[in-house]
Amino acid sequence: NAFVSLSDLTLSYGQTVAVPDLNLDIRKGELIALLGPSGCGKTTTMRAIAGLLTPTGGKIMIDGADVTRTPANKRGIGLVFQSYALFPHLSAFENVAFGLRLRKLPDAQVRAKTEAGMATVGLKGFEARKPAEMSGGQQQRLALARSLVMEPKVLLLDEPLSNLDARLRLEMRNELQRVQKDTGITMVFVTHDQSEALALADRVVLMKDGRIEQLGSPSELYAEP
Ligand code: ADP
Ligand code: ADP
Repeated sequence: NAFVSLSDLTLSYGQTVAVPDLNLDIRKGELIALLGPSGCGKTTTMRAIAGLLTPTGGKIMIDGADVTRTPANKRGIGLVFQSYALFPHLSAFENVAFGLRLRKLPDAQVRAKTEAGMATVGLKGFEARKPAEMSGGQQQRLALARSLVMEPKVLLLDEPLSNLDARLRLEMRNELQRVQKDTGITMVFVTHDQSEALALADRVVLMKDGRIEQLGSPSELYAEP
């Protein structure tokens, strides 16, 4: 019942093998965290799922299809980075609507989906703001909305909260969890913050030197001696 399945995955940069032999099954609708110290292979793994890095070995399945050689833009995957990469000259509304317009959806649908997406992340009423006129937390929500409206099969989040101050980070944890439960979208997020992973995720993948050291729910990981 894996929705995303990584089998015997080898990920390399030139001669350097960053991830030697990864096996991981991700269930539909779960929020899973890749946790571990800098350099352990979290981002590399995420880039492979996204299709930004071609494996040198192994297989990636998403929703029953082998996507190992499928280009990034055909995988139905959304990405949210710590640097939000919002368009500064566009309003919040147009930032969220951007991808929908690229898909050439009719205006009424663009409007409906954009408004719904902004409501999901608690940004109703902010449609006319420019990103620079919004707080860090609001910009992060906007980036999330922009990905959500594209209805990705999987949403990948790379250190999504690390640019926020401590108070906002806690607030956005709950927000992210709520959005994930509300939408049911399978989410994989990368973090080096153990408390964040344990607080947010349904399951935590603890990585070390390109390998999975532990894998389980937060309570299972806590129960380890
Ligand atoms: P993390 O996201 O956990 O910090 P990465 O996936 O970025 O770790 O890195 C895993 C390993 O791959 C590290 O040893 C890192 O030095 C190496 N690596 C990452 N990106 C590159 C790159 N572009 N070229 C060469 N080696 C890289
Ligand atoms: P397109 O079909 O034109 O790529 P998308 O809405 O899928 O349109 O994506 C818009 C932009 O976001 C793309 O040009 C791409 O650069 C980026 N993007 C979206 N999804 C991914 C992904 N999984 N990997 C890399 N880039 C992506």
